Amino acid sequence: MKGKEHILYSEEAIKERVGEMGKAIDAYYNGKEVLVIGLLRGSFVFCSDLVRAMESKMEIDFMTTSSYEDEFSSSGDVKLFSDLRADVKGRDVLIVDDIIDTGHTLETVVKSIRALEPASVKTAVMLDKPSRREVDFSADFTGFTIDDVFIVGYGLNYGPYYRNKPYIYTYED
Ligand code: 5GP
Ligand code: MG
Repeated sequence: MKGKEHILYSEEAIKERVGEMGKAIDAYYNGKEVLVIGLLRGSFVFCSDLVRAMESKMEIDFMTTSSYEDEFSSSGDVKLFSDLRADVKGRDVLIVDDIIDTGHTLETVVKSIRALEPASVKTAVMLDKPSRREVDFSADFTGFTIDDVFIVGYGLNYGPYYRNKPYIYTYED
């Protein structure tokens, strides 16, 4: 990658924070079984670390969401491609995403899950950009709160690439 990478959160910092989040989420569910739903593709790295930092008994499933018209700006028109295998009715659901930006994605997903009559719905995100919010929505569990900068790595893409970078960074041309 040409240009300059600026690391915001190192692999070690992420590991520490995800560990804390796992403990906080376990404490919240307090022995109850959880249905974890990861939102693809961005949350695949965070979700896999988070579930391994948790001890709650859980089922893990995924949904695909897509909101970007182009690579860098959210359209607000969120597309859900649901291939849920789990039965949601009566379950305690934890939705996991990489980042909450405008809030449209999580708001839309929560609404669609609620329609399936779960016992409860909570949300966990690695990153939060509150200054970008367009809807009144906040996550229940948040890793790091950041300014309005475009983030890459730890599951987050730059075009089709760099989701595999183990740290969270910004990129300047
Ligand atoms: P929202 O619907 O909250 O605006 O956006 C949520 C989705 O937009 C995230 O799940 C993520 O896929 C994408 N997104 C938001 N901000 C960033 C960012 O800084 N970098 C990348 N790579 N994707 C982002
Ligand atoms: Mg996403």
